[in-house]
Amino acid sequence: MSSSAESFAELGLSTPLLEALAGIGYETPSPIQAQCIPVLLDGRDLIGQAQTGTGKTAAFALPILERIDVKVAKPQALILTPTRELAIQVAEAFQSYAHSTPGFHVLPIYGGQAYGIQLKQLARGAHVIVGTPGRVMDHLERKTLNLDSLTTLVLDEADEMLRMGFIDDVEWILEHTPETHQTALFSATMPDPIRRVAQKYLVEPREIKIKSATTTVAAIRQAYWQVSGLHKLDALTRILEVEEDFDAAIIFVRTKTATVELAEKLEARGYSASALNGDMNQQMRERVIDQLKSGGLDIVIATDVAARGIDVPRISHVINYDIPYDSEAYVHRIGRTGRAGRAGNAILFVAPREMRMLRTIERATRQPITPLTLPSRQDVTNRRVAAFKDRVAEVLAAEGLEFFADIVAQLEEEQNVGIHEIAAALTCLAQEAKPLQIGGEDPPPPRPFQERDKKPYGERERSFGARPARPERDFRPREDRPPREFAPRDDRPPRPERPRRDGDDANMVRYRIDVGRDHGVQVKDIVGAIANEAGIESRFIGRIALYDESSTVELPAGMPGEVSNLLKRTRVKGVPINLRPDTGREGGGWKKPEGGFNKFGGGKPERSFGGEGKPRRKHPGE
Ligand code: AMP
Repeated sequence: MSSSAESFAELGLSTPLLEALAGIGYETPSPIQAQCIPVLLDGRDLIGQAQTGTGKTAAFALPILERIDVKVAKPQALILTPTRELAIQVAEAFQSYAHSTPGFHVLPIYGGQAYGIQLKQLARGAHVIVGTPGRVMDHLERKTLNLDSLTTLVLDEADEMLRMGFIDDVEWILEHTPETHQTALFSATMPDPIRRVAQKYLVEPREIKIKSATTTVAAIRQAYWQVSGLHKLDALTRILEVEEDFDAAIIFVRTKTATVELAEKLEARGYSASALNGDMNQQMRERVIDQLKSGGLDIVIATDVAARGIDVPRISHVINYDIPYDSEAYVHRIGRTGRAGRAGNAILFVAPREMRMLRTIERATRQPITPLTLPSRQDVTNRRVAAFKDRVAEVLAAEGLEFFADIVAQLEEEQNVGIHEIAAALTCLAQEAKPLQIGGEDPPPPRPFQERDKKPYGERERSFGARPARPERDFRPREDRPPREFAPRDDRPPRPERPRRDGDDANMVRYRIDVGRDHGVQVKDIVGAIANEAGIESRFIGRIALYDESSTVELPAGMPGEVSNLLKRTRVKGVPINLRPDTGREGGGWKKPEGGFNKFGGGKPERSFGGEGKPRRKHPGE
């Protein structure tokens, strides 16, 4: 790995944080953590080019926690995230890292949650706020969120915020926060609009990018499974059972705790497995590796550090149970198989959010990683039955079955049943400890991964209107600069016209909602609320027309009941939207609407706005 620091202590983190990290089982800092933590502890601004899976959350959360004064019950750090799921995830990460920091409070705030709860929690005093831009803006406007004591502001997944149309909100928030804070911007990609935001609001930022060295790997069969519909453990055992040329495996996880937990679970399922981690002394580690070499053990579950340099020719499989931090770590990991001229297999488990990392690895290794179809229940059953038959054939071939044959003859007579029934009963008995059939369901086939739009929204749409020119940069220290003057939101130049789409799409249904121009609502508010509340990807949201008191929005046909119920209750600008199919006869329907397309790609040709034909519209569940 490209990490420079070998331990979190070396990075200058204090005991409560080190204790919490030890408790979680983090062994060493990931490369992005090793590089970002010292910079952020130093109070400097930072641009981190990192994607999900690199450990970027801890890279900003740990230095923030280090610098928080828990005695001051005011928000000292604000993290902006594109979605409520991420807001919750980040808040949970803070909570776990603050395990040994008594009195620390983190609060996620996002659209869809009742204001009452948020107001109460805000009044109680939180040290860190993690929120989606819309809701944070609302609270700032209502003055229910006071950022006077803010010391750090983090823009997490900035390119996603751009893609989802939140960048204006983000800028508004940046303009309404005290200038004295440190700002960190994390983004997987650096499209121009994000660069511009960085140039405008960050002061002499350190840029940290985890390089992905291109490396070629030996002839190893590489496959990935997109985690969905089945627990990783179940998927793992199915793979281990059915893989043809399985001899021994090394399974990579991220934490020391996970090595032990997974080893225990595999042992409970009948595998000879052992953990290998940095908590074990050299002698214990060597013993595990010797056992793996000699066949006393078949599976070792290891962290990256503990597995460095393992050379065991019988390792037929490397399983990346948790995705590595970067392509370099991936190459190190899979290099544990395919040794001494033998064939090697590498399997990678990838969560949907980590698909970008998969593509990065493919690019860096210049080799495709092919999707793996998980063995079905029937496949596993077939394999177990075949193994059972082999065992029976072996026993039949052996001598000395007379005693048992006599018992069968007795059973035949006493029970008055045929040999077949008796054999079936014995087969049933023989498999009691390890049933031939596995339970549970087969997961539905994974949704093909849909790559994000080729280019983020802001890049594509730049031609629709130039932003106001950026003022000259002021390189003086912040304290010496005059206060910034900001145009109130409403004085900004009007938004450019959006392109129009001709014709109707049979796969879309038009709905009416009870918020409109009179409520101060804009197209992006509606898209953001629907995307966040109903989990409908923004690009599936079609045309939106704003009227005075209401609006219409096109959504994919076949909306499940629970989603439409959720959307009935969803609020935009505090007003319940009461989503219902549009009959076209409601108030305001004849007035000329304003607005048009949501800017996420919904309802517009994907490649250009010139109308190169209508894209096939997919339902989110397709
Ligand atoms: P992130 O990229 O922040 O979403 O983190 C991805 C995953 O890596 C999360 O499950 C973290 O708990 C885990 N993680 C982050 N840093 C470390 C570390 N230093 N050691 C082990 N696991 C980590």
